[in-house]
Amino acid sequence: MISVSEASSIILSHSIETGLQEISIQESCGRILREEVQADRDFPPFDRVAMDGIAIDSEVWKKGTRQFPIESIQAAGQQQVRLNKSDSCVEVMTGAMLPVGTDTVIRYEDLEIKAQVATVLINEILKGDNIHRQSQDAKRNEVLLAPGIKISPAEVALMASVGMKKVSVSSFPKTAIISSGDELIPVDLIPLPYQIRRSNSYALQAALLEVGCVADQFHIPDQPEILETEVRKILEHYQLIIFSGGVSKGKFDFVPQTLERNGIQKRFHQVSQKPGKPLWFGTSSKHVVFALPGNPVSTYMCFYRYIKPWLVKSLGGQIERKTAVLIKDFSFKPTLTYFLQVNIQNEKGQLLATPKAGGGSGDFANLKDVHGFIELPAEESEFKAGQVFDYYPFRT
Ligand code: AMP
Ligand code: MG
Repeated sequence: MISVSEASSIILSHSIETGLQEISIQESCGRILREEVQADRDFPPFDRVAMDGIAIDSEVWKKGTRQFPIESIQAAGQQQVRLNKSDSCVEVMTGAMLPVGTDTVIRYEDLEIKAQVATVLINEILKGDNIHRQSQDAKRNEVLLAPGIKISPAEVALMASVGMKKVSVSSFPKTAIISSGDELIPVDLIPLPYQIRRSNSYALQAALLEVGCVADQFHIPDQPEILETEVRKILEHYQLIIFSGGVSKGKFDFVPQTLERNGIQKRFHQVSQKPGKPLWFGTSSKHVVFALPGNPVSTYMCFYRYIKPWLVKSLGGQIERKTAVLIKDFSFKPTLTYFLQVNIQNEKGQLLATPKAGGGSGDFANLKDVHGFIELPAEESEFKAGQVFDYYPFRT
């Protein structure tokens, strides 16, 4: 049996390179940028008036002038005007070009305007006040965004400002989620006493969708012949395949053998972790297959611990590492890595984790009360308040 860190590095070493997709910038939030975005002009592209008021020549101010007749108006979106008489002023609006012949803007709040003459009410003025200088934020041709970043609305604003309507982002692998188990029925049916609804498939589909990845759902009964034919069909059409259920030691757990018979090479089976010990992982030149144990908490945690980082890496993004401070002693004896469910409080930027272990790998009702899990190393069994552990959030 391999350790969690071995499992994780095997999985990450089998990341794939996904293709590219062009999408409109307003749909691109959360996606991984795959092109360089350059400034097509200076940021800002001209000396920009930053406050509504008047623009003056500061040399005239220095000589003692405090009253400036208004000569003209410079609105935003208008061609640049010129101050003709240096001891006058131009009324200027935020976003306008600074008029030729002026170098300082005085806010309306600091003026009194009567009969088209502006009197300055303040005593101190510095040359360049209230002007957003051309290229102050970025120069033309400067790289604004590098490939590999996760796009947020801030990046959308930059892309829009350089005239991009579409952007190249990582596309997703064609993904299938397959539940197996004869006890599992569709969510819209009423279960018989010995049946349950298949919740894992929906949780996985939703978790993938949070990353932007749309997956198709399949269900296969615990019958080897049907499993065999269905797996063959699915392998023909999908690249990322996620099973839940059927990988443990039960009499009806046929998933690993079926995958291996159909050209998926086992990379490992079983990880010294709780929950999720039966995890199986395999690949072929065209496929990456995660076969997760069906217990809902195991499925869930394996997704966040292994599949999500694999997907982020495959998309060309950066895997974020988070840590949290345990704030209550906790003990876990078996020599397995323990994924401890926790509630998180953010105190002055530090994540504080309170254990909320729940009732085991079948107790998925507990997931609604926690924010994620911390990873407690296998070698230790007593975990003390104040110790820091890797933290895997479920909620953003
Ligand atoms: P298995 O890994 O197939 O041995 O299943 C372990 C436990 O997880 C069983 O109690 C299953 O009923 C349950 N289980 C398996 N697949 C799902 C699923 N898709 N949704 C909810 N529970 C499941
Ligand atoms: Mg089963």
